[in-house]
Amino acid sequence: MTITPLMPVYPRCGFRPVRGEGAWLISEDGSRALDFASGIAVNLLGHGHPHLTKAIQEQAATLMHVSNLYGSPQGEKFAQRLVDTTFADTVFFTNSGAEAVECAIKAARAYHQSQGSDRFEIITFKNAFHGRTMATISASNQEKMHHGFSPLLSGFKYVEFDDLEGAKAAISDKTAGFLVEPIQGEGGIRPASDEFMKGLRALADEHDLMLVLDEVQCGVARSGALYAHELYGIEPDIMASAKGIGGGFPFGACLATEKAARGMVVGTHGSTYGGNPLAMAAGNAVWDVVANDEFLEGVRNTGEKLRAAIAQFIGNYPELFESVRGSGLMLGVRMNDNVVVREFVGHLRDNHGLLTVAAGDNTLRLLPPLNIGDEEIATFIEKLSAGAAAYETAKAS
Ligand SMILES: *Cc1c(COP(=O)(O)O)cnc(C)c1O
Repeated sequence: MTITPLMPVYPRCGFRPVRGEGAWLISEDGSRALDFASGIAVNLLGHGHPHLTKAIQEQAATLMHVSNLYGSPQGEKFAQRLVDTTFADTVFFTNSGAEAVECAIKAARAYHQSQGSDRFEIITFKNAFHGRTMATISASNQEKMHHGFSPLLSGFKYVEFDDLEGAKAAISDKTAGFLVEPIQGEGGIRPASDEFMKGLRALADEHDLMLVLDEVQCGVARSGALYAHELYGIEPDIMASAKGIGGGFPFGACLATEKAARGMVVGTHGSTYGGNPLAMAAGNAVWDVVANDEFLEGVRNTGEKLRAAIAQFIGNYPELFESVRGSGLMLGVRMNDNVVVREFVGHLRDNHGLLTVAAGDNTLRLLPPLNIGDEEIATFIEKLSAGAAAYETAKAS
């Protein structure tokens, strides 16, 4: 037998973390790495955050899981906090980002179909990432995710990201809504323009379409706003959240206005684990820390410092780096076309103890914990600097 016990769908590297301390991961062999990946935008309070850890420990010992057939004081409390701090009137809890997007797609269709309309098509945007379930791969135009899994779920139309005219032209009498990441994550940290996001909101209003936002990666304080759409001064009808929402505990949420959720009535949707007391304890603990102006301002300030440090630094290596973009602590460094970003990410990890993530458009993705400070920024620049110098020397020889 040659197949590995872990189904070999990931190209796993040699770094094998067994412990985390703040912004650092410690591997099986004792080596330490500065974690500017955060489990891909998940561990937003770093590793071993005392408030989050304590909340999970206490809840685990008290009550871990009960069925959604029973009343949920823990779920009601966290849902109420989400309702109080966002556009939403109601929340469905899931176990992952893809499930939150699934729920959002179902809600958008049900908004129309529960009222006798047959609209089902969702307009999505090229190079988007919405997850790995059948519906969410179908929602993305990325063929590498489709291969071997046909037939896809029908009803998605792909339009160029940030192309408002294209989005407008794609609307038909079958259109149910738009699904878009305000800041594309996997696609290469590409923020939508103000005009595009406001334009989609206006088109949705004009044609009675659901504006569905996928804020699985850019949401929960990552962008410097609690949710990234706030940066554009618009509100969605439906929104998927996950990743950072549990600070490392796996769960997600589909948030909606009362109007948008009109099809989501008793019996239409469900999840065995969704919103269990343990997940809700994690969510409440994360919200205790992040859902206030002081924390968000901290993310914006730290983000600006990190961005400025990067912008200044990359000027020294024009052969390697092109530009920095993003918002808050969701930053991307576009690499020059003669550098393969995946190689550079591996080089930083293996030779310099720095964890980053490769993204589309040859972009180095930086997603540090949101509570890093000057010390971590300085260490990051040191490591990046040593990494860039060594990489250039290696390439030249
Ligand atoms: C990660 C991600 C998802 C999928 O989340 P999972 O928890 O892996 O299912 C969906 N949308 C976006 C924008 C993401 O970044």
